Amino acid sequence: MDTERGKIAVGWLIVEDLAMVLALVLFPAVASFQGGDGAALVSDPLATRFGLGLTGVLVLTLIKIALFIALMLVVGRRLIPWVLHYIAHTGSRELFRLTVLAIALCIAFGATKLFGVSLALGAFFAGMMLRESPLSQRAAQETLPLRDAFAVLFFVSVGMLFDPLSVVREPWPFVATLFVIVVGKSLAALLIVVLFRHPMATALMISASLAQIGEFSFILAELGVALNLLPKAGRDLILAGAIFSIMLNPLVFAVVDWLTSRLEKPETASPTAATSEAIPVTELQDHTILVGYGRVGSIVGDALHRRNAPFLAVEASDDMVAKLKKRGIEALMGNAVRASVLRATNPAGARSLVIAIPEAFEAGQIVEQARAANPAIQIIARAHSDAEVDHLTGLGADIVIMGEREIARGMIEELDRAQPTSAMQNTTAAREDSAA
Ligand code: AMP
Repeated sequence: MDTERGKIAVGWLIVEDLAMVLALVLFPAVASFQGGDGAALVSDPLATRFGLGLTGVLVLTLIKIALFIALMLVVGRRLIPWVLHYIAHTGSRELFRLTVLAIALCIAFGATKLFGVSLALGAFFAGMMLRESPLSQRAAQETLPLRDAFAVLFFVSVGMLFDPLSVVREPWPFVATLFVIVVGKSLAALLIVVLFRHPMATALMISASLAQIGEFSFILAELGVALNLLPKAGRDLILAGAIFSIMLNPLVFAVVDWLTSRLEKPETASPTAATSEAIPVTELQDHTILVGYGRVGSIVGDALHRRNAPFLAVEASDDMVAKLKKRGIEALMGNAVRASVLRATNPAGARSLVIAIPEAFEAGQIVEQARAANPAIQIIARAHSDAEVDHLTGLGADIVIMGEREIARGMIEELDRAQPTSAMQNTTAAREDSAA
């Protein structure tokens, strides 16, 4: 989640889910024009009465959805938090739990019956409305066991729909489906990411993240079968494709890791590849390299800037780099893990390296490269757990500051300030704690 490629992959998956919402909405409308049993199932009384064409039905569907969303935004956003608040003040836990469940189910069914929205989509909006309440955290907690039970029921029933023998009986359609999911979908993603001028390693990692399909595909396949648009065999293929593509995903990641390492090696070894994306090396000497200019790095950087200390910032966000340059701070745009970026900071001539990024795995790779380039450089890194402290120290960091420990220390100091009499004991205890 902290890396650029992670953000792209997660963003992409969210957009896929949103596109699926649109598909769930428009599918029934389109289906009514495909004939078959599905038509009777979905044909809209309004559409039949006015003899609407395909465009008319699509527009009608979109109007209904817009009405539903408007109603939810206007009424749901006010009414639901108010009801939850009122029920919470009765003090009855059972009533609160029942209310949350009743609201969710009512919105889901109401959406289906009144607006022709699918049950899954209605439930999705019910969740969004419940989130609006300040009591949403409690509502989520109260329904957690139910959520787990429903999730298990969902996946168990999906598993029971799957006939493993179908794969053996007809292997070729299955292989073709798997090929579309694992190779076709990934190849399309790879091309799009490369077109947006991201590095090949990022493109490969994102393709690997997309080389599988998940639960939304089951819902869409189910809808397809219900509307008579998809034969049952098609649903079996989608199920088999989903199950096997998820099982194959770790393998795909392993292949991508291997490919990435082969792709990145020539970059460090061959001078031609290095010059093709060579970044001019800084002229600074005996300077500090600051990796990451976020919540942590900006405080360090601002302090260095005030002291007029020679330093150079490396940031993955181009907005931040532009801001720094405007302030007259030397900044380099890019991922410091990449050899070409780190090389441009002149680690061999630097005095210290401050790694202020939250991702310890990436920080470890930076530590390793910097230590190899300059055995004498002082490396200070950031961590969030004892395991990360050990990892970074093991790779050659001199000092690793663990955020959580510093928060605790700050809290103890505040306590000491408020209760000066017991300050001595507390400070001793704090020291012992951090030593432990
Ligand atoms: P924060 O967690 O708020 O201190 O933010 C961390 C900052 O580090 C963000 O501004 C990220 O853009 C930046 N960052 C994270 N990973 C890297 C990396 N590998 N190279 C350069 N900058 C990074």
